[in-house]
Amino acid sequence: MTGLTQSYVHGASDVPLLGETVGALLERIAAAHGDRLALVVRQQGVRWTYRELLGEADRFAAGLLALGVRRGDRVGIWSPNNAEWVVTQFATARIGAILVNINPAYRTNELEYCLNKVGCSVLIFAERFKTSDYVAMVRELAPETGTTGDELRAARLPHLRRLVTIGDGAPPPGMIAFAAVAGMGAGRMGEVVALGPTLQFDDPINIQFTSGTTGRPKGATLSHHNIVNNGFFIGECMRLGPDDRLCIPVPLYHCFGMVLGNLACVTHAAAMVFPGEAFEPRAVLETVAEERCTALHGVPTMFIAELDHPDFGHFDLSSLRTGIMAGSPCPIEVMKRAIGQMNLREITIAYGMTETSPVSFQSHVDTPLDLRVSTVGTIMPHVEVKIVDSEGRIVPPGTPGELLTRGYCVMLGYWDDAEKTRDAIDEGRWMHTGDLATLDERGYCRIVGRIKDMIIRGGENVYPREIEEFLYSHPKVQDVQVIGVPDPRYGEEVCAWVRLRDGETMTADELRAFCQGRIAHYKIPRHVRFVDAFPMTVTGKIQKYLMRDQMAADLTAPP
Ligand code: AMP
Repeated sequence: MTGLTQSYVHGASDVPLLGETVGALLERIAAAHGDRLALVVRQQGVRWTYRELLGEADRFAAGLLALGVRRGDRVGIWSPNNAEWVVTQFATARIGAILVNINPAYRTNELEYCLNKVGCSVLIFAERFKTSDYVAMVRELAPETGTTGDELRAARLPHLRRLVTIGDGAPPPGMIAFAAVAGMGAGRMGEVVALGPTLQFDDPINIQFTSGTTGRPKGATLSHHNIVNNGFFIGECMRLGPDDRLCIPVPLYHCFGMVLGNLACVTHAAAMVFPGEAFEPRAVLETVAEERCTALHGVPTMFIAELDHPDFGHFDLSSLRTGIMAGSPCPIEVMKRAIGQMNLREITIAYGMTETSPVSFQSHVDTPLDLRVSTVGTIMPHVEVKIVDSEGRIVPPGTPGELLTRGYCVMLGYWDDAEKTRDAIDEGRWMHTGDLATLDERGYCRIVGRIKDMIIRGGENVYPREIEEFLYSHPKVQDVQVIGVPDPRYGEEVCAWVRLRDGETMTADELRAFCQGRIAHYKIPRHVRFVDAFPMTVTGKIQKYLMRDQMAADLTAPP
């Protein structure tokens, strides 16, 4: 790393940025590593080499051309993890269509908003998943389905023309089966190949809706350049190579799946291994053991669920080496257990956000252990960072402030929302993350929390993360989240939600007694609640605002 000044680090690298599109990347890797295993999807029995994956992607891409999809058109995907998702990711990229990731947890209201906001002309979706009937939800929004000829004309979804379903058997009326699309493109494969060189790596290629906690989801728009390079440097930090097999239990609609998973693998000719449609800890353990996976991704709660699974000891995890823990603060204890009990001796932590493709910080397999478990590593190559106070001034090393990032990884902007884009990216092209962090003299970064999660108790700044880390060290505590709740005397008070280990019991006083004399009095949780679970998004992000709302309601409720 060079250019390190007080609080301003410029990640440098001997390795230049890649200058290619997602489609050209897949073609290059398939040419060089055609016989290597590319994709395993356990629940579908899929095992494809890189040559086969490219073939599947190109056939589907040709089918999309036959459906009238052109460069720059938006193609939505609304599905849990499966082979079709991966094919769609690369097929759209091959013809320059913009892939629009739609959260499978979204329902009609959010779906309608997202499809219309970015003007999707095609929606590819799973027919059903668990209790969700996606076909019924689409029909609710587009009752005209099946009555308007080949192309849909729906009053509430004016841009949408084609519905493609992922499922077994015949598609519902007015919809096309995923498998049939490839057939429609027979004879157009040459067009797909010819399109490649006309595409530019700065073109938008992917829209991901950010999980904003207030207001409507925003469509972070990413270019080939954003995600190809991010995937590449993420894989470099894990030292991925063609012999690696990465187990991906995180959702594909989120960048954790499609960039930290898929693109990290494809840039290094490693295999993408999917244990199931959605996270299930036993399936992950079984997949790692049976597929001899060398790497494993997850948000911290996934690793906790795997480590604490009653059958944990039955599985041989000796093939594991590396992986990424990310998405929310990664407790030191959980990192230590992943290293000690899962053989993840080269596991790394990544930090980032959808708007930065997503990763801006990551530790490296070589990062000394104490820093690997306690920091998010150093700034990624070719990315810049500064930490600023509320006036926008750079703070000294070790001082918390807002983390700003700049460089190739910053999104093009929010789709059709110049105002929100200006709020997020300033005139100097710095992305304002809304996260509080510190940087030490060597450039190691610690995420202190979200700016809006910081507790101000009687004028004292309290960082929930610090208290969470401390409470984790209690042997009865399995998981803990700290929030600020309104308090008439101090403005805010510290509140802890605690999940105990199986079979343990504890009182609030016992927890407070554990804190006495070990952390400052004002950090000791005034309110303690023992819970079985935290409110969480499907990507494993704890929704602290829901916890705050609930506590505020409970505390003001009449006794
Ligand atoms: P998303 O855009 O859904 O990926 O969410 C990004 C947010 O997740 C960041 O702004 C952080 O608040 C949080 N986050 C991601 N990775 C980490 C990490 N390693 N440590 C702490 N917070 C993280």
